[in-house]
Amino acid sequence: HSGFVAIVGRPNVGKSTLINEVIGQKIAIMSDKPQTTRNKIHGVYTTDNSQIVFLDTPGIHKPTSKLGDIMVKSAVSTLGEVDAALFLIDVSEGLGGGDRFIIEALKKVKTPVFLIMNKIDKIEPEALLPLIVQYKNLYDFAEVIPISALKGNNINTLLSVLSSYL
Ligand code: GDP
Ligand code: MG
Repeated sequence: HSGFVAIVGRPNVGKSTLINEVIGQKIAIMSDKPQTTRNKIHGVYTTDNSQIVFLDTPGIHKPTSKLGDIMVKSAVSTLGEVDAALFLIDVSEGLGGGDRFIIEALKKVKTPVFLIMNKIDKIEPEALLPLIVQYKNLYDFAEVIPISALKGNNINTLLSVLSSYL
């Protein structure tokens, strides 16, 4: 149950908060040293029978320059090399152009993708299901997991489901 996991999502959806929550709970190794020019290992989560390396995947968004275009392409190629990807969304913001662009990038790879619906503490529970339907219409996610990275809700479920894929 070990592997590399990329975390993708628009700015401010809670990627850093999630990594801090996961690594903060059961810290093994933390490194901010760049592993390549484009990837950073943000944390290694270790239990008795698993080791999950979380990678920060730099901005996948509509490029506005040639350099931006190269960076997006390299981020997409990273997505193709990992064992699983966590696509984080902010449930209080809904589905916008930023998320749609990332979903198009996810379609270019075969890596299993989890839809991680973050910030559930900010919405009414009834609002979740329509949002799940909307996202599922666009992409066949391997799993859908609602969490609150800030409050620490459902993080254990995320980790156990994730390690079952690795
Ligand atoms: P990143 O840009 O994706 O790395 O997002 P950050 O982790 O920096 O989070 C952006 C903001 O969202 C911060 O103010 C966080 O405290 C807040 N945030 C992250 N997760 C949650 C959550 O589950 N609930 C709420 N209410 N706020 C959150
Ligand atoms: Mg961040």
